Amino acid sequence: MKTSWQMALADSFTKPADLLAFLELDEIHRPEFRQATDRFSFRVTQSYAQRMAKGNPHDPLLLQVLPDVRELIEHPNFANDPVGDLKAAAAPGVLQKYQGRILLITTGACAIHCRYCFRRNFPYDGNAIGKQQEQNALDVIRRDRTLNEVIFSGGDPLVLSDERLGQMIRKIGEIPHIRRLRIHTRLPIVLPCRITTELIAALTATHLNSVIVIHANHPNEFNHEVSVALRTLRKSGMSLLNQTVLLKDVNDDTDVLVGLSEALFENGVLPYYLHLLDKARGTSHFDLSTEEALKIYRTLRKSLPGYLLPKLVREEAGRPYKTPVG
Ligand SMILES: *Cc1c(COP(=O)(O)O)cnc(C)c1O
Ligand code: SF4
Repeated sequence: MKTSWQMALADSFTKPADLLAFLELDEIHRPEFRQATDRFSFRVTQSYAQRMAKGNPHDPLLLQVLPDVRELIEHPNFANDPVGDLKAAAAPGVLQKYQGRILLITTGACAIHCRYCFRRNFPYDGNAIGKQQEQNALDVIRRDRTLNEVIFSGGDPLVLSDERLGQMIRKIGEIPHIRRLRIHTRLPIVLPCRITTELIAALTATHLNSVIVIHANHPNEFNHEVSVALRTLRKSGMSLLNQTVLLKDVNDDTDVLVGLSEALFENGVLPYYLHLLDKARGTSHFDLSTEEALKIYRTLRKSLPGYLLPKLVREEAGRPYKTPVG
């Protein structure tokens, strides 16, 4: 039987025309939708769609999910694996890029498909930790005593069931040199009903020090339901950080980014990274030049206290840390 968050997830929009009709927009059938979604399918939760403004084709939440004809433009600098994920695989679904930390692709599934996603072309089949890959992944972690942190990535780890998450966390907690667990997830923003007491119980039944990195890009992504979810996570004692991708026409604006940092802090989340776009094939229409990004960032630095200023970074394939920009 499905739980209520699983039913809400199943109730997502999976066709662009349905979302556009819900938003009372014209021209709901566009020829490019078919080609763009053949490459990367369409998915948006009802909850996230309800935060979009009706009748506004430029809504910053809509632009993050709406297939665009420019996704079909081939560009030599935009690649299928822009950050070198596959080269960093120590075993299927196990990425070893950063010292002391190891990243697990726990699932390929997400609650929302962000058109700018850097893993939109990632071959999840065979490269995510299913039951078959799990033993192997645990062996890699056990053998390497230089590791102290395990990162759950994906896809979105919180689409997994409470049972599955609980089991994985328990097995990782049994490895003596691992002290921290980090979970990268967009669900507190796009499916806030996922943050249930059962989930909190599964995440906190461990001695590991846990960090949740959420992913919000715009202040309009916050509403009462999201605040409740974030407060619930905070009350359970986990640290909450946010990472944002700087996106053309979505949040390439100082006022928007100031509003985002303030909304995060009001909800108990500290801004962590402001990422330049990873150049994944099909995402060039979201790209900003380094100069444009720096111009926004300089104004942002003047407008915020240091603890609300995210670090402006880019990820470069083969480098063991994010490269600071500027
Ligand atoms: C950068 C990154 C990490 C780890 O890097 P930190 O510098 O340790 O935060 C993990 N997951 C994702 C998706 C990242 O982009
Ligand atoms: S992995 Fe993150 S950015 Fe990519 S589609 Fe899923 S939620 Fe969006």
